[in-house]
Amino acid sequence: MTRWLIVALVPSLMLMVGGRANGQTTSLAGVIDFHVHSGPDSRPRSVSDLEVARIAKRAGMRGLVFKNHFTMTADRAWLAMQEVDGIEIFGGVALNHAVGGLNAEAVRQLVAFSGGRGKVVWLPTFDAEFWMTRAGDPGEFIPVMVGGRPDPALGEIFDLIAEHDLVLAMGHSSPAEVVALIPEARRRGVRKILVTHGLGQQPSTEQLAAMVEQDAIIELVWLAIQNGEFALADYAAAIRTFGARHFLLSSDLGQAMSPLHTDGLVAFMEGLRAEGIGDADIDLMIRRNPARLLGLDR
Ligand SMILES: [Zn+2]
Repeated sequence: MTRWLIVALVPSLMLMVGGRANGQTTSLAGVIDFHVHSGPDSRPRSVSDLEVARIAKRAGMRGLVFKNHFTMTADRAWLAMQEVDGIEIFGGVALNHAVGGLNAEAVRQLVAFSGGRGKVVWLPTFDAEFWMTRAGDPGEFIPVMVGGRPDPALGEIFDLIAEHDLVLAMGHSSPAEVVALIPEARRRGVRKILVTHGLGQQPSTEQLAAMVEQDAIIELVWLAIQNGEFALADYAAAIRTFGARHFLLSSDLGQAMSPLHTDGLVAFMEGLRAEGIGDADIDLMIRRNPARLLGLDR
């Protein structure tokens, strides 16, 4: 309990420190959070879709992407936009068991739903082979590679992603799988590729370089900082090595005991600034790159 309290307090403390250090408040105007968890969900969440939409709007944010591991979110995104004016909300689908795994029909429905808010296809997350194997989970996983080749079921999925200019997010695939899948996705015309919390799967520098060379965007999430999985210095080092244009910053927040998404994002921006990352680079990673992936800016 004490640990959770500390975890919950860290971002607001950092915000205070950051705010004092440079004598300015950090604005979320124009910011897009590409990784928002909110309820209803089968996991405990801190806020509902509508609550996080209102909070983000009040903070001046430009957009949100609702992520759920088990159900499609394009419909919820559209509904939230009817209630909260002036903010762009998108959804997607994570190809876990709940939607039939590598099931092209789930992607077809994502784009067919009225409202047109479906934008992101995540490869398996909690049901990914790499993720379950690493966690020692004996359950049935969903492979993305079969015999060293991309699973044939991905062909139709990649074609749909290309046809509708969706974002292919790599979910919890291993770095080796990501490196192998990107060329196949490119060959089929996929333009936008996001490596979901890209350091979290512990890629080597060479693997990260291979992803970046193939023009994938690497996602860095605040949640992993909050959990102590990474330090801001780790993120700053990666950004310096490869260049901010290859990265995207998002919160991955929404867990019942976590701070609000907006507080996490402010702490993220303040923290990177304290690590010496410039405002133009932060702007690129938290505003312009997400906007480009979502087709808001060409
Ligand atoms: Zn997440």
